[in-house]
Amino acid sequence: MAWDFETEPAFQAELDWMEAFVREEVEPLEYVLGSPWNIHDPRFAQLVRPLQRRVRERRLWACHLGPELGGAGYGQVKLGLMNEILGRALFAPIVFGAHAPDSGNCEILAAYGTPFQQERFLAPLLANEVVSCFAMTEPQGGADPKVFTTQAVREGEGWVISGQKWFASNARYADFFIVMAITDPAASTYQGMSMFVVPANTPGIRIIRNVGVADDPEATHAYLEFDGVHVGAEYMLGAPGEAFAIAQVRLGGGRVHHAMRVIGQAQKALDALCERALSRTTQGSLLSDKQMVQEKIADAWIQLEQFRLLVMRTAWRIDKFHDYQKVRKDIAAVKATMPKVLHDIASSALQVHGSIGVSTEMPFVGLIVRAYQMGLADGPTEVHKVTVARQLLREYEACAELFPAYHRPTAAAAAAEKFRMVPE
Ligand SMILES: Cc1cc2nc3c(=O)[nH]c(=O)nc-3n(C[C@H](O)[C@H](O)[C@H](O)COP(=O)(O)OP(=O)(O)OC[C@H]3O[C@@H](n4cnc5c(N)ncnc54)[C@H](O)[C@@H]3O)c2cc1C
Repeated sequence: MAWDFETEPAFQAELDWMEAFVREEVEPLEYVLGSPWNIHDPRFAQLVRPLQRRVRERRLWACHLGPELGGAGYGQVKLGLMNEILGRALFAPIVFGAHAPDSGNCEILAAYGTPFQQERFLAPLLANEVVSCFAMTEPQGGADPKVFTTQAVREGEGWVISGQKWFASNARYADFFIVMAITDPAASTYQGMSMFVVPANTPGIRIIRNVGVADDPEATHAYLEFDGVHVGAEYMLGAPGEAFAIAQVRLGGGRVHHAMRVIGQAQKALDALCERALSRTTQGSLLSDKQMVQEKIADAWIQLEQFRLLVMRTAWRIDKFHDYQKVRKDIAAVKATMPKVLHDIASSALQVHGSIGVSTEMPFVGLIVRAYQMGLADGPTEVHKVTVARQLLREYEACAELFPAYHRPTAAAAAAEKFRMVPE
């Protein structure tokens, strides 16, 4: 009997330390600094680097990675509990060496990188001496890789990359890009694309413009052009035609980590909702005494607990199987649920705060936009729902009979036959 919802005391002590550290030291950073990926800002060295050193001393740096890469090798369940805390503060992931897209890029460089690639790209990325960018989506579409046109053509021993990429997050701060390009136009999308690690200063790369999201202080999602960009053969990551498989490995873990952090963000909105309900009086009573406000609070808590259980069970299944294919349905379900949970809870918090709730003085509009981002980045919700449905349908077979076994008269006839009785 192994169903257990408890945390070991020793690990709980680490979580308690993290909780206080993030609240007291990390949360205030977002009010004085710009983008967490702007590691070359002199204030980053002054304010963030000392906190990163404390995290390393505590052995909590890059815990998603194994000890051979300087991480703690924690499984996904432990990471889930940690990421809930990291989700509460914009700078927490970078302070703990667990920030996207570098966390996923580290994982694929560790799994598929050659010794040259690991020394040149992975080592500084692990140490957060540089940040990186993952460039897959194209302006003509992201949800369907069949519309991608960026190509890498063989030239001598190397490759020449040409095409455009869209919404490549943090390209403006990145030291290198991991780029997906067609290398075999005759093959299918899933076998004809390869991955390249391209230094950002390679001639021919241009940021056409940086695109902003809602009221983000900086525009950080690049519209990128690759105009005859030459790279040597040693810059291909993995084997030719392996890009899609590599991307799936990267996105599988990343989606769950986003969901874990969303729990922290939604919890923050729920905390604000409850505090406000207990603090504000209207028409002679506290908001917390109004049944329609109580309903919002109850719905928010129930929705968050359901989601948290789904995320933690998915984390547990990843640890158990060590095979993302076996957990595809669970990960897709988590990915499809997370935008709605964040959207609904942040909307209730906004509504109960009244006018100040909708204002720029409160975080709720930002959280609602964040919910939409969560429903797009790493693939739109609709696509993940399709995955859930398809995976689920594989567990069923069509009924060859006119009336299925669960049809009541058919079931009654079968029961009568089994117990040798005449049906009523
Ligand atoms: C904040 C953020 C950060 C991102 N960072 C990166 C990054 O670093 N690197 C990168 O490569 N990409 C990045 N992306 C891009 C992201 O992967 C794409 O936005 C996503 O894959 C959707 O592609 P699209 O925007 O072109 O929308 P489209 O592919 O045009 O889809 C638009 C809409 O069509 C509908 N739709 C699509 N497919 C289906 C379907 N099968 N069934 C029903 N409806 C469907 C959905 O409503 C979908 O939202 C980021 C996106 C966001 C929002």
